[in-house]
Amino acid sequence: MHTIYIEGKNWLHYQTPLAASWAIKCICKAKHACSDAMNSPSWHTKSRYSIKEVYNLIQTQADKTQWARYVWNRLSIPKHRFILWMLIWDRLKTRDKLFNYGVCADNLCSFCGDAVETSAHLFFDCVYNKRFLVALLAWLGLNTHRTSVSLIPHWIRRNCRISFKREVFYASIAGGVYQIWKARNSAVWDHSVSTIEGLLHSLQSDVKHRILSVSGKKLSDVDREWLLAL
Ligand SMILES: [Zn+2]
Repeated sequence: MHTIYIEGKNWLHYQTPLAASWAIKCICKAKHACSDAMNSPSWHTKSRYSIKEVYNLIQTQADKTQWARYVWNRLSIPKHRFILWMLIWDRLKTRDKLFNYGVCADNLCSFCGDAVETSAHLFFDCVYNKRFLVALLAWLGLNTHRTSVSLIPHWIRRNCRISFKREVFYASIAGGVYQIWKARNSAVWDHSVSTIEGLLHSLQSDVKHRILSVSGKKLSDVDREWLLAL
């Protein structure tokens, strides 16, 4: 196998300097994801490798199956699925990226202004997102203290045995991610921040309309009643 070098050093032992360029930081981030897998004996016996093989190696089958179930859930609205998929792959153009491109004057969070706006901050740490998730969970009647979009779907899978309800919950979480991203775009481009109540109301309306139109007559009376009572 060929060894990859960054600035003359073997990439597996390269430490990212604080002042490293954005491109170098991206390469190093990918390195951390790949290095464990590439150190395995099975990898060292290969005479050739490809990007596709590296990708397949670092993605466990369990991760693929679980996230596919959450993201490509049939009841989720397509644009909600798309934004969730972009978040999982860290492809949303948050202010840290826009700042590096020279588009923004600063890289601070559009909601709180207290931290660099990365996807991780916006969707997992920001106080605005946490307040919204608390309201979302209360609406769905989910009794969990988890306030992270990465942990809540796993919790739902373990704790909800009714498949229709699980699908509604996954659709709502995907919709929640979409609403946060939409609110963030309004904050950046229109300089207005929606209220948590406004976001939740918009989500409730979208999710119920989508599920009723997709399920149609297949929906049992019990499930329809439960959905409309949400
Ligand atoms: Zn924030």
